[in-house]
Amino acid sequence: MSSFQPVRGMRDLTNQDAETLSYVISKARETAQLYDFQEVITPVVEPLELLSAKSGEEIRQRMFIFEDLGGRKVALRPEFTASIARLATTTLKNEPKPLRLFSVGSVYRYDEPQKGRYREFWQANFELMGSSRPEADAEVILLANSLLKKVGLKGYALKLGHVGVLKGIMTQEGMDDKTQNAILQKMDKKEYDAALAMVTSEKCQSTLRGLIDLKGSDVFDTVEQMKAHLQGYEKAVAAVEDLAAVLKLVTESGCPIETVDPAFARGLEYYTGMIFELYVPELDIALGGGGRYDKLIEVFGGEPTPAVGMAAGIDRISLAVQAQKTALQKPSQKNVMVIAIKEAQKTKALRIAQMLRDADVSAEFEVMGRKMAKALEDADKRNVDYAVIVGERELKEGKVVLKNLKQRTQTEAEIALLAQKIKV
Ligand code: AMP
Repeated sequence: MSSFQPVRGMRDLTNQDAETLSYVISKARETAQLYDFQEVITPVVEPLELLSAKSGEEIRQRMFIFEDLGGRKVALRPEFTASIARLATTTLKNEPKPLRLFSVGSVYRYDEPQKGRYREFWQANFELMGSSRPEADAEVILLANSLLKKVGLKGYALKLGHVGVLKGIMTQEGMDDKTQNAILQKMDKKEYDAALAMVTSEKCQSTLRGLIDLKGSDVFDTVEQMKAHLQGYEKAVAAVEDLAAVLKLVTESGCPIETVDPAFARGLEYYTGMIFELYVPELDIALGGGGRYDKLIEVFGGEPTPAVGMAAGIDRISLAVQAQKTALQKPSQKNVMVIAIKEAQKTKALRIAQMLRDADVSAEFEVMGRKMAKALEDADKRNVDYAVIVGERELKEGKVVLKNLKQRTQTEAEIALLAQKIKV
């Protein structure tokens, strides 16, 4: 037996795991179509410079970086946003705004492997570029909600916040960007004491502590309390007002928000506004997240372009689907095994398999040279619905034997009507 294993943190996905992952991808693509997001495909390998421009120290330290044979410093993408921002400032520069872009694929981060945390994982990424209005934020949150609904998950919850709150306080207190980012990283990991230890001003410390401890009776009350708590911090108050506008739009569109987290921060440095994450009770890690990033396009040399986006973690959504035993809502597809009784009927049997495939019936042709009984036993074991047995006697009348392996019944069927008969 081979002793080859996948690289640590990378996985081979088979059977149900592969099926679930590709099901979630198909739902993400359907959701993109429903919200009129155009699909774009970008490279897995990108210039290191592009990827490290604004993703944040946390992710920079976890990238798979190498030099290609031409001596270029490159890395495997740890996320999509940088690639999409590049597209928006080059190829799609003159497209009418807003741009609504969707991509899906694998991304790579040198994270510590554990359940739901891998070094190669899949994201469905949605970016809405060109609008600074709360409507755009709402549109992306509603899309995230639709995606989980479409997948069939139950009891999922949205957590909402605004980086402008923490950033507004820290900016007014004269803290530089680097310190702010370091504090936000700690807040993101809920290491509040470590975060506060980096704050020198006592007033700032107590304001931040107050936010961390703030609990409203519901999300609207939380927002009101935040506003009251932040009097004197104008930028932070403006951020809370923006958050309130998004919250109103989203909840009034029939998408409830379970939590507003006053001290919410996310790992990526480029966020400037509303941020959110998605959860299900079965997993304590986020299924997806996103937010507003109004300055990123400028970093890549484009015109100032406000933008908002989100990335859904396909692997974690798949774990949630499996934990909730969600039925994959796929059109029921019958599958068929086509078996020739003798060598002489092989060609004809293969033609019948082709005819079934042309009629959108999924058909396997027996390729192991097995005897009939053995071939049927194998088909049964692998849950095949029908066996089509091609024998000399029936062929003479333009027929084959159609065996329903589930009901254990058998009839003769005209070849011309075979696909139709299987489909019903
Ligand atoms: P981010 O790009 O960090 O905003 O992450 C977006 C989503 O990607 C998260 O909410 C997770 O669902 C997923 N994700 C992030 N890191 C990993 C990982 N190491 N393994 C699996 N999924 C991940």
